[in-house]
Amino acid sequence: MTVVAVDGPVGSGKSTVVRRAAARLGYVYLDTGAMYRAVGLLAMEAGVALDDEEGLVALARGAGLAFDGDGRLFAGGRDVSAAIRSLEMGAAASQVSALPGVRRLLVEEQRRLAGSADIVMEGRDIGTVVFPDAAVKIYLTARPEVRAARRTAELRAEGDEVDEAEVLDALLERDRRDSTRAVAPLRKAAQAVELDTSEMTLDEVVAAVVAIARGQAGP
Ligand code: C5P
Repeated sequence: MTVVAVDGPVGSGKSTVVRRAAARLGYVYLDTGAMYRAVGLLAMEAGVALDDEEGLVALARGAGLAFDGDGRLFAGGRDVSAAIRSLEMGAAASQVSALPGVRRLLVEEQRRLAGSADIVMEGRDIGTVVFPDAAVKIYLTARPEVRAARRTAELRAEGDEVDEAEVLDALLERDRRDSTRAVAPLRKAAQAVELDTSEMTLDEVVAAVVAIARGQAGP
């Protein structure tokens, strides 16, 4: 089993890059942010407050989260992949993910889902908490303005006519919350290879991630 842990802030290009890199390596792909987003979505639908730790843990426990082979996420059989992608769900995910009980449950689930597969897992705490012994650790970053431009393009492609300045504000707020929280804050793992993708094309980042993974994973 080889684990490639990819962490980094909002809009560092993780999702697209990691999905493609995993396909090229022939590894399973797992997006842990989607799980926190799904808990946020279910909470908003059920009227559970985003700081009600007990209520959220119960909700997450009964959520029946499952990925299919294409990286789509289901909650109790319902495909929530599109509904979790909005700016609002990013903010909700960031709130629920600050709660230790929610993290404990989802981290356990992430380790279980990884099983014994060769896997590329992306998130904020994969190299630091979920798989501290991962064979390969990569930390993706980019300048905030670049990340905001990428997120804006992604959201607009999904039909969400967002304002780029608003996206930048939301992103900075989420970065601040994710990196200052008490439990599993976003930070680069000691052994992680840092890749600043600000001046790189998507193809270049994918190639770099694949090369790092192949170089470090061993034979
Ligand atoms: O990666 P994505 O933007 O989808 O993640 C949404 C939010 O979920 C992040 O802002 C972060 O607060 C939280 N998250 C986390 N730990 C992870 C993955 C995501 O706290 N491993």
